[in-house]
Amino acid sequence: MAYPINEKIRNLTPYEPITGQYPIRLDANESFRQTPPSILTQITESLSSLSLNRYPDPYCTELCKSFAGYYGVNTENVTAWNGSDELISVLNQSFLMKGETVMTLSPDFSMYRFYCGIAETKCVEYQKKPDFSIQIDELISLVKKHHVRMLIFSNPCNPTSIGLKREDIRRLAHSVNCLVALDEAYMDFWDQTMLREVEDFDNLIVLRTSSKAVGAAAIRLGFAVTNKTLTRTLKAVKSPYNVNTVTQIIGSVLFNNKEWLNSSTQQIIASKNELYSMLKQTEKNRPEKIQVYDGVTNFVFVKTGEAKRFYQALLKKGIAIRCLGEYLRISAGTAEENREFIKCFESVL
Ligand SMILES: *Cc1c(COP(=O)(O)O)cnc(C)c1O
Repeated sequence: MAYPINEKIRNLTPYEPITGQYPIRLDANESFRQTPPSILTQITESLSSLSLNRYPDPYCTELCKSFAGYYGVNTENVTAWNGSDELISVLNQSFLMKGETVMTLSPDFSMYRFYCGIAETKCVEYQKKPDFSIQIDELISLVKKHHVRMLIFSNPCNPTSIGLKREDIRRLAHSVNCLVALDEAYMDFWDQTMLREVEDFDNLIVLRTSSKAVGAAAIRLGFAVTNKTLTRTLKAVKSPYNVNTVTQIIGSVLFNNKEWLNSSTQQIIASKNELYSMLKQTEKNRPEKIQVYDGVTNFVFVKTGEAKRFYQALLKKGIAIRCLGEYLRISAGTAEENREFIKCFESVL
């Protein structure tokens, strides 16, 4: 008997990250900051009291307290997840019925669409303007026209690095009656967070991650910050023991080290600014070859007719960046990594 795999997953292929050994990794927007020995010691000590035989705390009480303390929000508004990825998946599966409509923006983070496919929700896109700006009124009327049940997008945006100001987000979220899932994966690098306003909205969920500024992509940790009603619903629909104890312990230690997190974030911003100015200089010398976008994240977005050639030539030199059509996305690295990148980039140019 043949086993037929269902239609919605039959043609999916496993996610393929860049494999192979590249000494300089500027492709995934991770933090380049190494966790200092003093914090690693705190982690080791906290892990030594781990009850390996017991299920984790289903509500991640200590972890959510530490997160709330760092960001100045209320613990009752916070839930923890296995990366924002798990949360995006749960939003699609639980807050929408099969066939209902999700709106994403284009270009934006590709995982939004992926989880729509799995949840059998319908994904429609708002196309950003040629300069990647978003026309809020146009977006609002499109949400209404398509009877959208969830609007999800990143702010600031991956991959454009452009951000929408708080007043725009407020107006948007107040003008629609769908769920607004605001992915603030890069908001540590900017100052327009909506984290502390979630109680003003009955339809706003802010997504945060530990994979970027917090420098903990390895432990798969993300958060939802939303009003108490939606927090209760999120707790009701999640798998009971979703975040493992090791992740809870490490995450809690990290968020308790506020000064280190703050200084680390500042250093990443400084590195991005440096990378941006170097690329701007390159653009000035060869304006016909590249166009460099200003942004508010930890990466720089570049337009070039030869994206693929740059990407492949840099890989050969041991430098991984991200290639998206006719665009390149380069994460900020250490000062040495940035310099090595620019040197190789100009030689390829
Ligand atoms: C990197 C990134 C995330 C983080 O996802 P995790 O699953 O928490 O690692 C979320 N959203 C966007 C837009 C990102 O770029």
